[in-house]
Amino acid sequence: MKIIIVGGVAGGASAAARLRRLDEKAEITLYERGEFISFANCGLPYHIGGTIPERESLLVQTAEGMNSRFNVNVKPLHEVLSINKESKTVKVKNIKHGEIKEDSYDYLILSPGASPLVPPIPGIDNEKIYTLRNIPDMDKILKRLDTGVKDAVVVGGGFIGVEMAENLKERGMNVSLIEMQEQVLTFLDPDLAAHAHHELRSGGIELYLSNGVKAFENKGEKIDLVLSDGDKLTADIVILAIGVRAETHLASEAGLELGETKSIKVNEKMMTSDSSIYAVGDAIEITNFVTNKPGIIPLAGPANRQARIAVNNICGIESTYKNTQGTGIVKVFDMACASTGVNSQTLKKEGIPFKTLTIHGGSHAGYYPEAYIIHLKLIYSPEGKILGAQACGYDGVDKRMDVLATAIRHGANVTDLIDYELSYAPPFGSAKDPVNMAGFVANNDLTGFAPLVNIENLDKHLKDGAILIDVRTPEEVECGKIKNARHIELETLRDKLEDIPKNSEIIVYCKVGVRGYIAQRILMQNGFDRVLNLSGGYDTYSVFKTPEQLTKPCANTKIADDHQTHSKNRIPVKDEKTTLKIDACGMQCPGPLLQLKKGIDELETGEILEITASDSGFYMDVKAFAESTGMEILELTNGKKITAKIRVNKNKKSCVTAGGDQTTIVVHSGDFDKVMAALIIGNGALAMGKPVSLFFTFWGLNALRKNHSVHVKKTFIEKMFGFMMPRGSQKLVLSKMHMMGMGTWMIKDIMNKFNVENPESLLQSLIDGGGKLIACKMTMDLMGIKPEEIIDGVDEGGVATFLSDAEKGNITLFI
Ligand code: FAD
Repeated sequence: MKIIIVGGVAGGASAAARLRRLDEKAEITLYERGEFISFANCGLPYHIGGTIPERESLLVQTAEGMNSRFNVNVKPLHEVLSINKESKTVKVKNIKHGEIKEDSYDYLILSPGASPLVPPIPGIDNEKIYTLRNIPDMDKILKRLDTGVKDAVVVGGGFIGVEMAENLKERGMNVSLIEMQEQVLTFLDPDLAAHAHHELRSGGIELYLSNGVKAFENKGEKIDLVLSDGDKLTADIVILAIGVRAETHLASEAGLELGETKSIKVNEKMMTSDSSIYAVGDAIEITNFVTNKPGIIPLAGPANRQARIAVNNICGIESTYKNTQGTGIVKVFDMACASTGVNSQTLKKEGIPFKTLTIHGGSHAGYYPEAYIIHLKLIYSPEGKILGAQACGYDGVDKRMDVLATAIRHGANVTDLIDYELSYAPPFGSAKDPVNMAGFVANNDLTGFAPLVNIENLDKHLKDGAILIDVRTPEEVECGKIKNARHIELETLRDKLEDIPKNSEIIVYCKVGVRGYIAQRILMQNGFDRVLNLSGGYDTYSVFKTPEQLTKPCANTKIADDHQTHSKNRIPVKDEKTTLKIDACGMQCPGPLLQLKKGIDELETGEILEITASDSGFYMDVKAFAESTGMEILELTNGKKITAKIRVNKNKKSCVTAGGDQTTIVVHSGDFDKVMAALIIGNGALAMGKPVSLFFTFWGLNALRKNHSVHVKKTFIEKMFGFMMPRGSQKLVLSKMHMMGMGTWMIKDIMNKFNVENPESLLQSLIDGGGKLIACKMTMDLMGIKPEEIIDGVDEGGVATFLSDAEKGNITLFI
């Protein structure tokens, strides 16, 4: 049997190896147009970025290696020009020497792949525009990059575009990414793609969404890109990654049938319209496993499996390819974004009814360090058949996606997920894995035990008169809520049932959906029969409505929040060298510094403390801390997380404890932002061992008022003053951009997402940490503020108190 294979990379090389394993006597010739066979095209972006340092690592197999191991006649630099299916021959050109020869086959396997799309945009043939498909493409890009160019633009936000953007950034370049759609990674629904947008932006990529390139203009050493909205970008290099087109000219010119998608049509045996010719990989039209519709899914896994099926059938082993479901994953800096099956957009287009649910589960047990949130979306039919799943997160995304891909492959129903017994120990998962949780939630929805409403349908329900109830804590609500939501904290819900109309539809929500579910069950068991829980809660709402405000979830403390587990960030270790480990991930300045200070207070000289934080400012803070307190930094690593190993030295008197370095701050302003600045500096100074004194006067006094009203005797004018001024730190507003409360609301929301402590807790940690808080007695009298109205832990004092403190210090600030 004589077999010719066209294309020597994913599908072609797999086919050759399998053929030889099945038939030792077959005469196998593999023609490859390029210089290399069986190279790792999926690794190309990572060599460009430097993660895969050796170019040779990408060359998985050589022509010689393939020849000696598999006895395959490998012909690189040979292009198959045409097929004559009647005579079962191909015309082949030796690219090096130019000669053209004919070769014959019993069977022909086509795996010619796809080529990058290059649209006819004016100026497209500029030499500074590159595409990436193979090793020579990569070499050309590297040659340009090695000249030291700095500005790159990637056009296209698919897998390859996103990977290239990240890897160019890894090289220290300025990178912009242009995408014509409203989102990158269109295999994701928009609410999940928002996480990728955030990650790209945090990684320093300038994103231009809903924008295309109208023209390229040569500018000497540079190139200009004219965008459809009229913007202009200038770059040294442009990477065009807007998709691929199947290489079909050989097949179509030979008269082989093409499918609806204009790719090569094959049956389930991978046989083309000619029974002697098989085709696999990016060049073929697949049938979508979920929709049963024709499509194109150019991925390496399917190409390899299709090659195996084609070869089996050629060798007499009946095999059928069971369609492609499009399971894919991509790294976006520290995040993984993955999907399997179909997304909402596809189902809408196909007119297939579906439901969705979103959960925000932990990658592993919240009490075990380094747990991250996985945003998981499940798409299922109204009867419960799983149609698709998507996830984004910093850890454990691949594992969940593979479980769900398997579930889809076996036609699972969402309720089946409940019974999946998945591997669990705290470092790896949870006793109720996010996959199980998704099953519970879906089952509750489908059985009517706890029906869901998803975010896309929320407005419609509200328009139809549904009542929205927010069951989170007042602090969470303070930082943002859904418009027109009534706030009834979960813990008080049973007492307030009378206030909720029974004849209306009720929608409850919390942060991620767990407390919403409890509230829903309370209501349903108290005679409210139309109660829906907002799927994914406020976290999903805020991403959906205000994706740009999305922040990086990191804290295991945050994960613990809604899953009622205890977050433990202090782990005494047995390791001789390290006495105490502190996980301050997810805390924002000055949280990690305060944790560090507390930790050091617990240790003796010579003991070692290790602290990990995700607040990027901590890298500088910890150095300053050590310098001013005389502690010794043994190790300090920067990156996604900052880890510092510190040897405690309490003998060495630092300049701090030697006296004369008190920090004194006059808090004159009552503006939220200015008070925050004073409190952060005060806490920071305290953490660094400096005595701190904050002197609150005039409007600054309002920050010290209790948040609730206190019954005290006041004159009419004092009452008026009290009424007109903000009562307590919760009521302070921004000095600028307050915009009728909108600006203050937004900043508090952002602070909440970034885990920045609020003024109340900063005041409390100042008090707890031994900071001196002084309320100016004279202004208290002037403004009619009574001592009973001031929070505990504050002294009253006058100008002398302030001056004597200021004299002790070398820093005095007036805010
Ligand atoms: P290819 O692997 O492209 O091989 C086709 C070969 O055929 C080419 O080398 C071509 O030169 C040769 N050829 C074409 N016509 C002729 C002819 N007439 N005569 C002789 N030779 C010919 N997929 C994933 O699943 N995960 C990933 O992470 C991933 N990352 C990727 C990153 C990049 C940068 C690229 C380019 C692709 C990536 N892919 C990824 C896609 C994956 O590589 C393809 O789906 C897979 O290689 C397709 O295999 P194939 O055999 O159909 O085509």
